[in-house]
Amino acid sequence: MFLNLVTTNVSEATELLGNLVGAIITLLIVYVPTLIWCVISAIKRIYASRPSLLRARYCGVVSIFIGLTCMFMAYAFDVRFSINSDIFPVNVIHNTIIAIQRTKATGNYYKTSEGFSYKAHSSRPADKKEVYVLVIGETSRADDWQLFGYGRPTNPLLTKRDGLIAYPKTLSESNTTHKSVPLMLSWVSAENFADSIYTTKSLISAFNEAGFATAYLSNQGRNHSFIDFFAREAQKTVFLTDNGHSHHDEELLPLLHDFIEQSTNSKIMVILHTYGSHFNYMDRYPSSFSVFLPDKTADADVFNRNELINAYDNSIRFTDYVLNRVIDMLENRQCLSGMIYLSDHGEDIFDDKRNRFLHASPVPTYWQIHVPLIIWMSPQFKEAYPMLYANANNNSGKNVSSSRSVFDTMMQLGGIITPYADKTKSLIDSAYTETPRLYLNDHNKAVNLEKAGLQNYDYEMLKQKNIAH
Ligand SMILES: [Zn+2]
Repeated sequence: MFLNLVTTNVSEATELLGNLVGAIITLLIVYVPTLIWCVISAIKRIYASRPSLLRARYCGVVSIFIGLTCMFMAYAFDVRFSINSDIFPVNVIHNTIIAIQRTKATGNYYKTSEGFSYKAHSSRPADKKEVYVLVIGETSRADDWQLFGYGRPTNPLLTKRDGLIAYPKTLSESNTTHKSVPLMLSWVSAENFADSIYTTKSLISAFNEAGFATAYLSNQGRNHSFIDFFAREAQKTVFLTDNGHSHHDEELLPLLHDFIEQSTNSKIMVILHTYGSHFNYMDRYPSSFSVFLPDKTADADVFNRNELINAYDNSIRFTDYVLNRVIDMLENRQCLSGMIYLSDHGEDIFDDKRNRFLHASPVPTYWQIHVPLIIWMSPQFKEAYPMLYANANNNSGKNVSSSRSVFDTMMQLGGIITPYADKTKSLIDSAYTETPRLYLNDHNKAVNLEKAGLQNYDYEMLKQKNIAH
């Protein structure tokens, strides 16, 4: 909780605390009066009687013995157990130290990343017209996308598109925005996140170095961490929410249109950071997109699941509309162009007996990490690079990590040469190779999915979708 609070933005922190309200109140009721009474007793020198002292000591010894037995049992039977994470108060001290270290390292980011360069250049002629758009979704899960086999018409427009390739076996290596987005925007992956994220820049810098005009257009709040830092690398950076109001994602489209039309550079790369399907779902789309009804509920309760799913699916349908308009815009340019869309993480919406809701919890679920990822290429791009389009199709049935592959795929789509690019991770290269699944946990360590805490419900879903774990 400490770690997430100091590294996330206000809406995610409130969401996290909202889930823990019951626990926090219980803690306050049980601990606070007891501690106050202890302090008063010590000051006033009020002592317990000898028999009750002996009783208390006896109970203490028995408790220690039970505690130690439980600890050894946990060591033996639970692969996720560690003293630093699970034994109070060691975990509190450990996490507080890490939180302070991270805050300090984040504060020094501009200094520690100052000299970083991708040593990037374009492999294509300087006057060749190119436009690439990377759309980062929010809280969108693949299971509610028609393109990925969902029974409801949530993608009425994208399903009619030519040149669109979907990757149904994509998992994210984090269930939080503040880690997932930096993972996809940089060459860094879960394995070296803790060591390298403070000294690196994002793919925006690689496009800058290769001579592109770049823009970062966001419908999210500033998080005062890596997403902000990376956004500032772009030649144009806009946060719609800076005016204190919330907006629908479609309001990013005029900004995208103007940037593309007004740029004097023949090469353009834009990142759209949307607010997609973040709770409260019914606020994410205009009323004309209220297709699945009833959809008006803000109550996070399992009894409202139908309404919540209706609103959530309407938000996906709105994303379908926004992405379709981005593709329209690129198509009208009639040049080398492409769009990649993916979501940062998924969402729990009371899907199984665990009755879990939202995301960013310390232990992820299948629903929180199975994300949609699609690539669209313009007819001109497909004609110029038929092999890349063929590779993209050939790789569509393979297992993908969104956190690993976006950077390398964007480099190859934009024809950028950099020593940091790895073609075995690029979804449009014939060398693309599946890698073992990893997850970046709360302590910034890369662990396998079992150690991340996935349970039988999750493995059943992965098996059903034929996704490797
Ligand atoms: Zn997110």
